[in-house]
Amino acid sequence: MSSEILGLSIIQSFSPRDYMIIKVESVVAITKTKYQEVIIADLKGYGRALVLDGLIQSTEIDEYVYHESLVHPVMITHPNPEKILIIGGGEGATLREVLRYNTVKKVVMVDIDGELIELCKKHLKSYHQGAFDDPRAEIVIMDGREYVEKSHEKFDVVILDLTDPYGPEISKALYSQEFYEKIFRVLKDDGLMVTQAGSSFYFEKVYDYVLNNIKKVFPIIIEYNVWIPSFGYACNFIIGSKKYNPKILSANEIEERLKKRDVKDKLRFYSSTTHISLMHMPIYRPSNKR
Ligand code: SAM
Repeated sequence: MSSEILGLSIIQSFSPRDYMIIKVESVVAITKTKYQEVIIADLKGYGRALVLDGLIQSTEIDEYVYHESLVHPVMITHPNPEKILIIGGGEGATLREVLRYNTVKKVVMVDIDGELIELCKKHLKSYHQGAFDDPRAEIVIMDGREYVEKSHEKFDVVILDLTDPYGPEISKALYSQEFYEKIFRVLKDDGLMVTQAGSSFYFEKVYDYVLNNIKKVFPIIIEYNVWIPSFGYACNFIIGSKKYNPKILSANEIEERLKKRDVKDKLRFYSSTTHISLMHMPIYRPSNKR
Protein backbone atom coordinates (compact mmCIF):
# COMPACT_ATOMS: atom_id res chain seq x y z
CA MET A 1 0.00 0.00 0.00
CA SER A 2 1.43 3.47 -0.86
CA SER A 3 2.55 5.36 2.21
CA GLU A 4 0.14 8.19 1.52
CA ILE A 5 -0.33 10.77 4.27
CA LEU A 6 -3.30 9.36 6.04
CA GLY A 7 -4.01 12.37 8.21
CA LEU A 8 -6.89 11.71 10.63
CA SER A 9 -7.42 7.93 10.69
CA ILE A 10 -9.23 5.24 12.62
CA ILE A 11 -6.78 2.61 13.88
CA GLN A 12 -8.93 -0.40 14.70
CA SER A 13 -7.45 -3.41 16.46
CA PHE A 14 -9.40 -6.33 14.95
CA SER A 15 -7.41 -8.94 16.80
CA PRO A 16 -5.02 -9.01 19.78
CA ARG A 17 -2.20 -8.35 17.30
CA ASP A 18 -3.62 -6.89 14.07
CA TYR A 19 -4.73 -3.38 13.18
CA MET A 20 -6.63 -1.72 10.34
CA ILE A 21 -5.93 1.92 9.51
CA ILE A 22 -8.74 3.70 7.68
CA LYS A 23 -8.62 7.36 6.67
CA VAL A 24 -11.30 9.57 8.18
CA GLU A 25 -12.85 11.90 5.59
CA SER A 26 -15.07 13.70 8.09
CA VAL A 27 -16.16 13.34 11.70
CA VAL A 28 -19.95 13.63 11.98
CA ALA A 29 -20.33 13.11 15.74
CA ILE A 30 -17.99 12.22 18.58
CA THR A 31 -19.07 11.90 22.19
CA LYS A 32 -18.92 9.81 25.35
CA THR A 33 -22.35 8.61 26.46
CA LYS A 34 -23.09 7.08 29.86
CA TYR A 35 -22.10 3.70 28.37
CA GLN A 36 -19.58 4.06 25.56
CA GLU A 37 -17.41 6.32 23.40
CA VAL A 38 -19.27 6.99 20.14
CA ILE A 39 -17.77 8.12 16.85
CA ILE A 40 -19.87 8.54 13.72
CA ALA A 41 -17.59 9.38 10.80
CA ASP A 42 -17.29 9.11 7.02
CA LEU A 43 -14.41 6.73 6.28
CA LYS A 44 -12.53 6.64 2.97
CA GLY A 45 -13.81 3.71 0.91
CA TYR A 46 -16.30 2.59 3.60
CA GLY A 47 -18.80 5.46 3.84
CA ARG A 48 -20.63 6.47 7.02
CA ALA A 49 -19.53 4.35 9.95
CA LEU A 50 -20.37 3.77 13.61
CA VAL A 51 -17.45 3.14 15.97
CA LEU A 52 -18.04 2.23 19.62
CA ASP A 53 -15.16 2.17 22.10
CA GLY A 54 -12.70 2.08 19.20
CA LEU A 55 -14.33 -0.90 17.43
CA ILE A 56 -16.07 -0.53 14.06
CA GLN A 57 -19.70 -1.69 14.47
CA SER A 58 -20.89 -1.04 10.94
CA THR A 59 -19.89 0.77 7.77
CA GLU A 60 -22.20 1.89 4.97
CA ILE A 61 -20.46 -0.17 2.29
CA ASP A 62 -20.88 -3.60 3.92
CA GLU A 63 -23.46 -3.28 6.75
CA TYR A 64 -26.06 -5.07 4.60
CA VAL A 65 -23.88 -8.20 4.55
CA TYR A 66 -23.76 -8.28 8.35
CA HIS A 67 -27.40 -7.36 9.02
CA GLU A 68 -28.90 -9.66 6.35
CA SER A 69 -26.68 -12.55 7.54
CA LEU A 70 -27.70 -11.92 11.16
CA VAL A 71 -31.47 -11.58 10.61
CA HIS A 72 -32.69 -13.70 7.69
CA PRO A 73 -31.55 -17.27 8.50
CA VAL A 74 -33.64 -17.32 11.71
CA MET A 75 -36.53 -15.25 10.28
CA ILE A 76 -36.84 -17.62 7.31
CA THR A 77 -36.46 -20.77 9.43
CA HIS A 78 -39.36 -19.88 11.74
CA PRO A 79 -42.66 -20.95 10.08
CA ASN A 80 -44.50 -17.76 11.04
CA PRO A 81 -42.32 -15.08 12.75
CA GLU A 82 -44.75 -12.53 14.23
CA LYS A 83 -43.25 -11.32 17.52
CA ILE A 84 -39.55 -10.45 17.49
CA LEU A 85 -37.15 -9.26 20.18
CA ILE A 86 -33.95 -7.43 19.20
CA ILE A 87 -31.38 -6.70 21.90
CA GLY A 88 -28.77 -4.12 20.84
CA GLY A 89 -28.71 -3.09 17.20
CA GLY A 90 -28.42 0.65 17.90
CA GLU A 91 -28.02 1.65 14.24
CA GLY A 92 -31.57 0.44 13.48
CA ALA A 93 -30.43 -1.78 10.58
CA THR A 94 -31.38 -5.04 12.31
CA LEU A 95 -34.80 -3.50 12.98
CA ARG A 96 -34.99 -2.49 9.30
CA GLU A 97 -34.35 -6.06 8.15
CA VAL A 98 -36.90 -7.59 10.56
CA LEU A 99 -39.62 -5.15 9.50
CA ARG A 100 -39.34 -6.30 5.88
CA TYR A 101 -41.49 -9.37 6.82
CA ASN A 102 -45.26 -9.12 6.27
CA THR A 103 -45.63 -11.76 9.00
CA VAL A 104 -44.18 -9.42 11.65
CA LYS A 105 -46.80 -7.91 13.94
CA LYS A 106 -44.51 -6.54 16.69
CA VAL A 107 -40.77 -5.93 17.16
CA VAL A 108 -39.37 -4.89 20.53
CA MET A 109 -35.88 -3.39 20.21
CA VAL A 110 -34.04 -3.05 23.54
CA ASP A 111 -30.84 -0.99 23.63
CA ILE A 112 -29.03 0.22 26.74
CA ASP A 113 -27.95 3.54 25.25
CA GLY A 114 -30.66 6.12 24.49
CA GLU A 115 -28.13 8.82 23.58
CA LEU A 116 -26.62 6.50 20.96
CA ILE A 117 -30.04 5.74 19.48
CA GLU A 118 -30.72 9.47 19.07
CA LEU A 119 -27.36 9.96 17.32
CA CYS A 120 -28.08 6.99 15.01
CA LYS A 121 -31.58 8.29 14.22
CA LYS A 122 -30.04 11.61 13.19
CA HIS A 123 -26.83 10.55 11.44
CA LEU A 124 -27.38 6.96 10.19
CA LYS A 125 -30.51 7.41 8.07
CA SER A 126 -29.17 5.07 5.36
CA TYR A 127 -29.00 2.33 8.00
CA HIS A 128 -32.39 2.58 9.72
CA GLN A 129 -34.30 4.01 6.70
CA GLY A 130 -37.07 5.17 9.04
CA ALA A 131 -37.45 1.79 10.82
CA PHE A 132 -37.60 3.47 14.25
CA ASP A 133 -40.92 5.10 13.21
CA ASP A 134 -42.62 1.91 12.03
CA PRO A 135 -45.86 1.44 14.05
CA ARG A 136 -44.92 -2.22 14.68
CA ALA A 137 -41.66 -1.19 16.40
CA GLU A 138 -41.39 -0.59 20.16
CA ILE A 139 -38.03 0.90 21.23
CA VAL A 140 -37.06 0.24 24.86
CA ILE A 141 -34.03 1.94 26.43
CA MET A 142 -32.84 -0.59 29.03
CA ASP A 143 -30.13 -3.14 29.74
CA GLY A 144 -31.14 -6.19 27.71
CA ARG A 145 -30.52 -8.44 30.69
CA GLU A 146 -32.95 -6.45 32.85
CA TYR A 147 -35.53 -6.52 30.05
CA VAL A 148 -35.56 -10.30 29.68
CA GLU A 149 -35.63 -10.74 33.46
CA LYS A 150 -38.77 -8.60 33.73
CA SER A 151 -40.50 -9.57 30.47
CA HIS A 152 -43.75 -11.55 30.58
CA GLU A 153 -43.98 -11.57 26.77
CA LYS A 154 -43.08 -14.57 24.59
CA PHE A 155 -41.29 -14.18 21.25
CA ASP A 156 -40.94 -16.26 18.09
CA VAL A 157 -37.40 -15.00 17.35
CA VAL A 158 -34.76 -13.22 19.48
CA ILE A 159 -31.89 -11.43 17.73
CA LEU A 160 -28.83 -10.41 19.80
CA ASP A 161 -26.97 -7.67 17.97
CA LEU A 162 -24.61 -6.61 20.73
CA THR A 163 -21.13 -5.14 20.99
CA ASP A 164 -18.46 -7.79 20.61
CA PRO A 165 -18.02 -10.58 23.20
CA TYR A 166 -14.30 -9.73 23.31
CA GLY A 167 -15.16 -6.01 23.57
CA PRO A 168 -16.61 -3.67 26.18
CA GLU A 169 -17.98 -4.72 29.59
CA ILE A 170 -21.55 -3.49 28.97
CA SER A 171 -22.53 -6.49 26.86
CA LYS A 172 -20.32 -9.21 28.40
CA ALA A 173 -23.07 -10.64 30.64
CA LEU A 174 -25.28 -11.09 27.56
CA TYR A 175 -23.03 -13.88 26.29
CA SER A 176 -23.36 -15.99 29.47
CA GLN A 177 -25.20 -19.28 30.04
CA GLU A 178 -27.39 -17.54 32.60
CA PHE A 179 -28.48 -14.98 29.99
CA TYR A 180 -29.21 -17.63 27.34
CA GLU A 181 -31.38 -19.43 29.92
CA LYS A 182 -33.39 -16.20 30.24
CA ILE A 183 -33.66 -15.96 26.44
CA PHE A 184 -34.86 -19.59 26.36
CA ARG A 185 -37.60 -18.59 28.81
CA VAL A 186 -38.86 -15.61 26.74
CA LEU A 187 -38.92 -17.70 23.55
CA LYS A 188 -42.10 -19.60 22.57
CA ASP A 189 -41.82 -23.42 22.47
CA ASP A 190 -40.73 -23.35 18.83
CA GLY A 191 -38.62 -20.16 19.02
CA LEU A 192 -35.13 -19.44 17.71
CA MET A 193 -32.33 -17.14 18.87
CA VAL A 194 -29.28 -15.84 17.01
CA THR A 195 -26.31 -13.86 18.28
CA GLN A 196 -23.32 -12.27 16.63
CA ALA A 197 -20.30 -13.97 18.23
CA GLY A 198 -17.23 -11.97 17.22
CA SER A 199 -14.39 -13.93 15.57
CA SER A 200 -13.64 -17.64 16.09
CA PHE A 201 -10.31 -17.12 14.33
CA TYR A 202 -8.87 -14.18 16.26
CA PHE A 203 -10.71 -14.73 19.58
CA GLU A 204 -11.14 -18.50 19.65
CA LYS A 205 -11.35 -18.82 23.46
CA VAL A 206 -14.06 -16.12 23.70
CA TYR A 207 -15.94 -17.72 20.81
CA ASP A 208 -15.85 -21.14 22.48
CA TYR A 209 -17.10 -19.58 25.73
CA VAL A 210 -20.14 -18.20 23.89
CA LEU A 211 -20.68 -21.41 21.87
CA ASN A 212 -20.51 -23.66 24.92
CA ASN A 213 -22.93 -21.45 26.84
CA ILE A 214 -25.49 -21.69 24.03
CA LYS A 215 -24.92 -25.46 23.72
CA LYS A 216 -25.80 -25.87 27.42
CA VAL A 217 -29.22 -24.25 26.84
CA PHE A 218 -30.48 -25.04 23.33
CA PRO A 219 -31.07 -28.45 21.69
CA ILE A 220 -30.23 -27.31 18.16
CA ILE A 221 -27.10 -25.24 17.52
CA ILE A 222 -25.95 -23.83 14.16
CA GLU A 223 -22.67 -21.98 13.66
CA TYR A 224 -21.99 -19.87 10.59
CA ASN A 225 -19.78 -17.00 9.52
CA VAL A 226 -19.46 -14.37 6.81
CA TRP A 227 -16.59 -12.12 5.81
CA ILE A 228 -17.17 -8.47 6.67
CA PRO A 229 -14.49 -6.29 5.01
CA SER A 230 -14.71 -3.46 7.57
CA PHE A 231 -14.34 -5.89 10.48
CA GLY A 232 -11.12 -7.34 9.06
CA TYR A 233 -12.43 -10.88 9.68
CA ALA A 234 -15.22 -13.39 9.10
CA CYS A 235 -17.90 -12.50 11.65
CA ASN A 236 -19.35 -15.50 13.48
CA PHE A 237 -23.02 -16.06 14.26
CA ILE A 238 -24.57 -18.77 16.43
CA ILE A 239 -28.20 -19.90 16.30
CA GLY A 240 -29.88 -21.63 19.25
CA SER A 241 -33.18 -23.24 18.29
CA LYS A 242 -35.84 -25.02 20.34
CA LYS A 243 -37.40 -26.94 17.48
CA TYR A 244 -36.54 -25.99 13.87
CA ASN A 245 -33.19 -26.66 12.21
CA PRO A 246 -32.06 -23.93 9.73
CA LYS A 247 -29.67 -26.41 8.10
CA ILE A 248 -32.37 -28.70 6.69
CA LEU A 249 -34.45 -26.14 4.79
CA SER A 250 -34.39 -26.75 1.03
CA ALA A 251 -33.71 -23.95 -1.46
CA ASN A 252 -37.27 -24.31 -2.79
CA GLU A 253 -38.77 -23.95 0.68
CA ILE A 254 -36.67 -20.86 1.36
CA GLU A 255 -37.64 -19.33 -2.00
CA GLU A 256 -41.30 -20.02 -1.19
CA ARG A 257 -41.04 -18.32 2.20
CA LEU A 258 -39.08 -15.32 0.84
CA LYS A 259 -41.82 -14.73 -1.77
CA LYS A 260 -44.78 -15.38 0.56
CA ARG A 261 -43.34 -13.05 3.23
CA ASP A 262 -42.69 -10.35 0.61
CA VAL A 263 -38.96 -10.19 1.34
CA LYS A 264 -37.38 -11.74 -1.73
CA ASP A 265 -36.78 -8.67 -3.90
CA LYS A 266 -35.64 -6.44 -1.07
CA LEU A 267 -32.34 -8.16 -0.25
CA ARG A 268 -28.79 -7.59 -1.53
CA PHE A 269 -26.90 -10.50 0.03
CA TYR A 270 -29.17 -13.16 1.52
CA SER A 271 -31.01 -15.61 -0.75
CA SER A 272 -31.91 -19.30 -0.74
CA THR A 273 -28.48 -20.24 -2.10
CA THR A 274 -26.74 -17.87 0.33
CA HIS A 275 -28.66 -19.51 3.20
CA ILE A 276 -27.56 -22.98 2.16
CA SER A 277 -23.92 -21.94 1.73
CA LEU A 278 -23.86 -20.06 5.05
CA MET A 279 -25.25 -23.10 6.88
CA HIS A 280 -22.54 -25.34 5.41
CA MET A 281 -19.50 -23.03 5.59
CA PRO A 282 -16.60 -24.30 7.75
CA ILE A 283 -15.79 -22.18 10.83
CA TYR A 284 -12.33 -20.54 10.81
CA ARG A 285 -10.17 -21.49 13.77
CA PRO A 286 -6.42 -21.10 14.45
CA SER A 287 -6.47 -24.49 16.22
CA ASN A 288 -7.53 -27.67 14.45
CA LYS A 289 -10.54 -28.05 16.75
CA ARG A 290 -13.66 -28.96 14.73
N1 SAM B 1 -21.23 -5.70 16.49
C1 SAM B 1 -22.54 -5.44 15.97
C2 SAM B 1 -22.38 -4.91 14.61
O1 SAM B 1 -21.25 -5.07 14.16
O2 SAM B 1 -23.27 -4.40 13.95
C3 SAM B 1 -23.27 -4.59 16.96
C4 SAM B 1 -23.85 -3.34 16.56
S1 SAM B 1 -24.82 -2.47 17.68
C5 SAM B 1 -24.12 -0.91 17.48
C6 SAM B 1 -24.32 -2.94 19.32
C7 SAM B 1 -25.34 -2.39 20.30
O3 SAM B 1 -25.34 -3.13 21.53
C8 SAM B 1 -25.11 -0.93 20.71
O4 SAM B 1 -26.19 -0.16 20.23
C9 SAM B 1 -25.06 -0.95 22.25
O5 SAM B 1 -25.64 0.19 22.85
C10 SAM B 1 -25.84 -2.23 22.52
N2 SAM B 1 -25.62 -2.85 23.85
C11 SAM B 1 -24.43 -3.15 24.44
N3 SAM B 1 -24.65 -3.69 25.66
C12 SAM B 1 -26.01 -3.78 25.82
C13 SAM B 1 -26.85 -4.24 26.88
N4 SAM B 1 -26.34 -4.75 28.01
N5 SAM B 1 -28.19 -4.16 26.70
C14 SAM B 1 -28.72 -3.64 25.56
N6 SAM B 1 -27.97 -3.15 24.52
C15 SAM B 1 -26.62 -3.23 24.67
